Amino acid sequence: MKLEKTARLPAGRLFCLMVVAAGLAAAGCAAKPSPSTTLISNAIVVDGSGAPPIKVAVRIEGQRITEVGALKARRGENRIDAGGLVLAPGFIDTHSHADEHVLEQPEALVAVSQGVSTVIVGVDGFSKFPLAEFYADLETNPPVVNTASYAGHNTLRTKVMGDDFRRHATGDEIEAMCELLEREIRGGAIGLSTGLEYDPGIYSETEEVIALAKKTAALGGRYTSHIRSEDRYFEDAIEEAITIAREAQVPVQISHLKLAIRRQWGCAQALITRLDEARSSGVDITADIYPYEYWQATLTVLFPERNFEDRAAAEFALSELSMPDGLLMSRFDPEPSYVGKTIAQISALRGTDDTTTLMALIAEAEPLRAETGEYAETVIGTGMMTGDIEELLSWPHANVGTDSYLVDRHPRAAGTYARVLGRYVREKKILSLEEAIHKMSGLPARHLGLEDRGLIAPGMFADLVLFDPETILDHATLKDPTALSTGVTGVWVNGVRVFDGGASTGARPGRVIRSAIKPSILNGFSCPAGR
Ligand SMILES: [Zn+2]
Repeated sequence: MKLEKTARLPAGRLFCLMVVAAGLAAAGCAAKPSPSTTLISNAIVVDGSGAPPIKVAVRIEGQRITEVGALKARRGENRIDAGGLVLAPGFIDTHSHADEHVLEQPEALVAVSQGVSTVIVGVDGFSKFPLAEFYADLETNPPVVNTASYAGHNTLRTKVMGDDFRRHATGDEIEAMCELLEREIRGGAIGLSTGLEYDPGIYSETEEVIALAKKTAALGGRYTSHIRSEDRYFEDAIEEAITIAREAQVPVQISHLKLAIRRQWGCAQALITRLDEARSSGVDITADIYPYEYWQATLTVLFPERNFEDRAAAEFALSELSMPDGLLMSRFDPEPSYVGKTIAQISALRGTDDTTTLMALIAEAEPLRAETGEYAETVIGTGMMTGDIEELLSWPHANVGTDSYLVDRHPRAAGTYARVLGRYVREKKILSLEEAIHKMSGLPARHLGLEDRGLIAPGMFADLVLFDPETILDHATLKDPTALSTGVTGVWVNGVRVFDGGASTGARPGRVIRSAIKPSILNGFSCPAGR
C-alpha cells in the first residue's frame, strides 16, 4: 500500500517531479494556464488514512489527484468552492451485490448518493462467469462506479459439479475448480470468495477451500468468506476461516461480521479477542460490517443441516435466531404478495402456526430453485444487538461494507455509509469522523490490496466524496427501503463528477479494477489439491 507515501510531499516539488516524469520541459514548474485541472478549495480534507481533518486544497488532473496542500488557483483552472464541507476519498464497498443489476442500472444511485465510488462484487461465493465477459460488458457500458470482483467458490463448484453437489468434491473436481479459478484470476478477479452457508458451498470440506485458497494466494489474490455458520456453529466457522487463511497463507476478510444467535449476543469482545489472537499469530484476518440489526439471506440458511421438515430445527430458528415477527420476506417467488410481510403476518393469513409457516414456505420455494437454479426467496431477519455492532464496527480491522444489491429491500443498500456517519459518528460518537472515513476508504483499500485508491494523496485516483458532517443521514428503513441518504453534495469517480447537489450528473467514468498478478508466478503453478 502507498498509504503514507506521498501525502506530505511538498506540492510544488511533486508537481516538478511529475512534469519531468512526463517528459515535458523542465521550465514547466512555472504556473501556467491549465484548464484541464480542477482545484477543490475551502474543504475540510479527511484523507482516509485515519489522520485528523485538515483544511487544504486538492488539485485533480485527468483521473488523478496531483496535489494536496495550500494551493493557489491557476489561471483558467476549474475551481470548486467546497463551502467548508468535508472532502473524503470515495467510499469503497468491499461487499456488494451490485453485479446483479449494475449493467441495467449503471447510474447506481443508491450507492453514489451515499458516497460510494467503488463496489467489490462476486461475494458470498457467487460471481459472474466467466468474469472476463462481465468485465468486457462493464467496459463497453461503463457504470458510474468502479468495479472489482472476486471469483466465487459456489459458482466454480456449480460449473464443475452441476446438480450433483450434495457431497464432498473428488480430487479431480477440486483440480477442475482450481483451473477455473486460475482462469478467473488471470481474467482479473481479485481473489476468491466463499459463501459456505449457501448451496453448494456448504457441502465442501475445509480441504477443498484450502486448495482453492492456496491457488488464490499463489496468484497474489485475497480470500473473503461468508463463513459456514453465522449462528449455530459460529465459533467453528470462525476457526475454519482462520485455518484456511493460515494453511493457504492468504489474507482473509470475514464478510458482514455479526453475532446473530441469542446465546452470542453481547459477546463481541470475546470474538474480537479471538480475532486479535489470530492476527498476532500471523493470520491476516479482517472483516467488513454493515450498521444494521438485521441481516438478509435465504430462509434455507436457518437450516444448516438442510432438514427443512424438522420441526425442532424450525422452532430453534424462530426462538434463537430471529422471531416470527422479525423475519420479513424480501423475495418470495411462489407467492409475491408475501413480500413485505413477516412470518407472523403470513401465519395469520394462512391460519397456521409460525413453525408450520416457515417449513411450508421453504417447501414451496425449493422446487422453484431446483427448476431455475436460483434461490426463489430471501428474508430480512432481525437478530443482532446494537451494542455488538458498535463494538465490532470499532474493531480497528473492520471496514464498512453494505452487503447489498442496487435494487434491494434491505435499507443498507441506500443507507449504510450515511448511517455510520450520521448516527455512529455524529449522534452516538462511537467513532471519530476520521476513523469512520478510514473504515470506508483507506482501510478497505488496504484490505483489498488497492494501491491507488482510498486516500486523498498525490498520485491516487481522484475518487472523492464531499458531504456535510452536520447533516449527513440515512433515511432508508424497512418500510421505505429505497429512500436515499442526504448530506452528500458531490461525488467524483476517476476525476469526473458523477453526483452533484442530490442528483446524478449522467457521467459514467467507472473503471474495472483488475487483479495485479505477481509477475514471478505467471509461469506454471500446479493446483495444490493433489488428492
Ligand atoms: Zn453473505
